[in-house]
Amino acid sequence: MGKISKFMIVLLAVLGFAYYWLLVNAGPQVPARRIDLGALRKAADGMKGDKPTAITFATVAMRDVPGAALAAGTGLRQITSAITAWRIETPEGGIVIDPGISEVDARSMGFEAYSPRAQQLVNVWMDRAAMILFTHAHIDHVGGFLDHPRFKSIEGKAVVSEGMMGNINALWRENARLLHAPRKFAAIEAVAPGVVLIQTPGHTPASEMIYVRLASGREYIFAGDTASLAANVEIPTPRSRLLADWLVPEDRSSVMGWLKGLKALKKEHEGLVIVPSHDAEWVMPKGPEYGITLAPELRKARTTK
Ligand SMILES: [Zn+2]
Repeated sequence: MGKISKFMIVLLAVLGFAYYWLLVNAGPQVPARRIDLGALRKAADGMKGDKPTAITFATVAMRDVPGAALAAGTGLRQITSAITAWRIETPEGGIVIDPGISEVDARSMGFEAYSPRAQQLVNVWMDRAAMILFTHAHIDHVGGFLDHPRFKSIEGKAVVSEGMMGNINALWRENARLLHAPRKFAAIEAVAPGVVLIQTPGHTPASEMIYVRLASGREYIFAGDTASLAANVEIPTPRSRLLADWLVPEDRSSVMGWLKGLKALKKEHEGLVIVPSHDAEWVMPKGPEYGITLAPELRKARTTK
């Protein structure tokens, strides 16, 4: 064998290993982190008042990424990643979850498609809302809040945990100085009738999932970036090492534990809807099947396009 072909074999082996390590390997074997649905239901019912009635969403930005980036081992096929804002309809004006991002920030993250109209709608949601929640304090989840044009009138509605504050400060947003003091939360704590925060450190030290039980009895868990895609729970598999160890560092073992916990929960309770944070291919058409519908204000634009 010539020197060159030996070199090629070594090179291919190295590349193969790098591909496997960075984009396929799901990481350490860890036990499932148990999510206690009974406790969530109890907390959701413990707050007196009318429960939420519906869930709508607005897609603010979209881009194509290789599936393996967000779900290790799913290959290089391009999938559509979206920045999605959610609105929980309540008798008190609604609750907004992860209220979008500014165009400047979306573009700098590589999002090719951006809808100023969708973000303006989410801004109005925040104007009217009783409460604004975040699954975690990365810019694609808190940016729309921190850059809200009427920040002073809405900042008091934000539910920010102590741990999130560090991440918010790291974003260097002028408005962050005006933000009220953060709150300390128990592992499971209701914030409104039918709405419960679950502390799920991993993707960030202060990541939360949000459990929602509608008046109809339908139940949802907003998984945040613990499950950016439905595949993260279905397989289960976390983000690739390329992303989780290098580009957007996270505690991958903890994330894997939560993903296994979510998968086990879904197996036990088929009706429970686990809502992935960035899965454009899930939210349409799966979302509407599960009662999560595109905001009526954005429907027309979509159909006439
Ligand atoms: Zn995100």
